[in-house]
Amino acid sequence: MDATQGTSDVVKGMAAAMEENRRYLTKLDSEIGDGDHGNNMNRGFKAALERLEAANPSTPADVLKAVSMALISKVGGAAGPLYGTAFLRASSALGNKEEVSAEDAAEALDAALGGIKQRGKAEVGDKTIVDALEPAVEAAKESAGQESVAGVFRTAADAAKEGAESTIPLTAKRGRASYLGARSAGHQDPGATSTYMLLDAAARALEGTS
Ligand code: ADP
Ligand code: MG
Repeated sequence: MDATQGTSDVVKGMAAAMEENRRYLTKLDSEIGDGDHGNNMNRGFKAALERLEAANPSTPADVLKAVSMALISKVGGAAGPLYGTAFLRASSALGNKEEVSAEDAAEALDAALGGIKQRGKAEVGDKTIVDALEPAVEAAKESAGQESVAGVFRTAADAAKEGAESTIPLTAKRGRASYLGARSAGHQDPGATSTYMLLDAAARALEGTS
């Protein structure tokens, strides 16, 4: 299978994960936000699949760019533009490559993190997507020398799961949950959780187990 098709399969896996976890993500967001994160993500990835079908992309970067455009244009709320920026940066990092190595994948994840941090100004500990994505990127970069692309995503997803769980005791410093101040503590951050789910879905698609 070529890498463009492989990237499309990853996006399909992500869309299925967002549909499956829509209620759970919305429940997490109703505890410390406005209860729309699951619906936002599900709507965005549905739009991404439609856009992919229409666009007929010819490189992995084109696939990621189509996802980015769908997320930016279809998802209101904080997470749409943040994830949209992440996919756009990942797309630029891949350039016109037709194959994606483990190192390329780790670099694309690093670029995605850079976009989210630049746009959202969050750091680890602020109870956001960054709490899951930054440790995931570190793990991805460390493993890229000895792993397959699937292995890099598996390592990243495992680190993101821990990162998402680490948000439970934190007080939110960014986004809507920060309006709650100390009352945001004791709840897992929805965006960090969706980051884990997206990476896990990518790993499963690449492992051929989704
Ligand atoms: P909204 O908060 O506008 O309703 P969503 O509910 O879709 O948007 O997304 C909420 C998630 O967005 C939060 O759980 C958090 O992880 C993430 N988020 C919010 N602001 C930022 C930020 N500045 N940087 C990184 N992630 C953020
Ligand atoms: Mg919300």
